[in-house]
Amino acid sequence: MAKFQVILQYDACETIEVEADDAEQARELAADKAKAHLCYHCSQSLDLGDVFGEIVIDENGREVTS
Ligand SMILES: [Zn+2]
Repeated sequence: MAKFQVILQYDACETIEVEADDAEQARELAADKAKAHLCYHCSQSLDLGDVFGEIVIDENGREVTS
């Protein structure tokens, strides 16, 4: 029998609440506040990639991503 490494790819997300004049400013503020990281234990088996998408929701719950 042979050994294999299987890389399972997961999705993860971080929700950041900001006050801004518009969606674009909200995105910029959220990018500045983002602090996604893995603790020592989780980092033994998980890697965290870069942000690949953003969804901006206004205070009425509507998606305002441009
Ligand atoms: Zn952890």
